[in-house]
Amino acid sequence: MGAFIVSKFGGTSMGDLASMQRSAVIGLERSSTILVVSATSGTTDRLIEIAKFASSGNMPECEKLIFGIREKHLGILKQTGNSLQTLTQLESYFTELDLLVQNLTLLKELTPRAYDHMLSLGERMSSLIFRDVVAQLMPHKNVTLLDARTIIKTDSNFGKATPQINLIEKEATAKIDRSGETVYVTQGFIGSDLQGNTTILGRGGSDYSAALFAEGVSADVLEIWTDVAGVATTDPRMVKEAKIIPELSYSEAAEMAQYGAKILHPATIAPAVRKNIPVFVGSSFAKDLPGTWIRTSVENKPSVRAITKRSSQALVTITTPTMYNAYGFMGELFEVFGRHRVSVDCVTTSEISVAVTVDNTTLENASFIKDLEKVGNIQIEAGYSLVSLIGNELTHKASLAKSIFSTIDDVNIRMMSLGASSYNFNFLVKEEDSKPVIQKLHKALIEAQ
Ligand code: ASP
Ligand code: MG
Repeated sequence: MGAFIVSKFGGTSMGDLASMQRSAVIGLERSSTILVVSATSGTTDRLIEIAKFASSGNMPECEKLIFGIREKHLGILKQTGNSLQTLTQLESYFTELDLLVQNLTLLKELTPRAYDHMLSLGERMSSLIFRDVVAQLMPHKNVTLLDARTIIKTDSNFGKATPQINLIEKEATAKIDRSGETVYVTQGFIGSDLQGNTTILGRGGSDYSAALFAEGVSADVLEIWTDVAGVATTDPRMVKEAKIIPELSYSEAAEMAQYGAKILHPATIAPAVRKNIPVFVGSSFAKDLPGTWIRTSVENKPSVRAITKRSSQALVTITTPTMYNAYGFMGELFEVFGRHRVSVDCVTTSEISVAVTVDNTTLENASFIKDLEKVGNIQIEAGYSLVSLIGNELTHKASLAKSIFSTIDDVNIRMMSLGASSYNFNFLVKEEDSKPVIQKLHKALIEAQ
């Protein structure tokens, strides 16, 4: 058989029958073996609302939302010709949803386990219908609906479970036919723990799922099909001169995803790197455009390739007078971050204090803040954005700092970090400054190249 391709289609690519058909055509043209799909656009958000309304006992709101999801999915299914088997299966998912909602309204409690189970319904519904669409287009193939939970094994950290790579590889090798006779349609985002409970990989996790499938079967190519034509030099909504980048290295792509480029889930690159699988990012609405290729080595390595932004950042400064000439403080501090599973993006230190940036939402975690206070005095400043320049050999370009600072000499930079990797240069600015900062830097450092 030819190359083994795993293709992932996002929510908008599942949004209606026409989008599903376009996605299926891509699967056919590329001879993809595994098609990994997101929930239809907006469905996961609705399921989250249902979970919240149900656990506060608000049945009427739940019913309204369920009605919306029902109309949408039944509507698409009807247009496909309405196979009785699929309809029965879809009805059983709605029965499952009703039962979950009844339980939550009764108990007025939302457990992490119930939450993950509830959210899994979005991908299970979209994949069920998409299987029919693919089967209609590929009558000569065995088009199978694969339950991702039988392959994507995870720990039991509900809400954002950690995949168990060895188990995934074992299940994928045992369960997936590589002959090319079978085309699998499966769900992104979901998995199951060792007890068989449904888990999710975190919001936007379908890209990650697709990468895990690709790793599990040692695929030749991983394709991420979305509604934009590839990875852009910056968010085109902010800078209309932004351009699609034809080729990116894994390191650049990983930094971009980590520092706010919305197009790929940040965890997606690691599985591809482990198996050296090239990743393609393109639009299912414009499949013939060149898109972006992400691979180990690339020909063109500009020092500044892209500019990303992470909004809603807070700067937390931890100060302790006893840190002077002391050791062990950093260990103690980061142990708190680790224990609360809070990720740190940028760090700077001085003799008696450490400043770190975190997502604003972290500040809602009262027990985390309390534990930090045990380590030192803390000061919190919110309302920032982290702007990152992503590129190559950034630590070796003497003139870069000069051009950055002269381009944005009127802006107060609250914190900076450079040096940990040669691929990024981060600085923290007030939220309201971030857009003009990005526009000016894009013009000076990218458009001028
Ligand atoms: N449906 C999930 C979400 O909206 C996963 C995904 O689409 O990647 O977060
Ligand atoms: Mg996504």
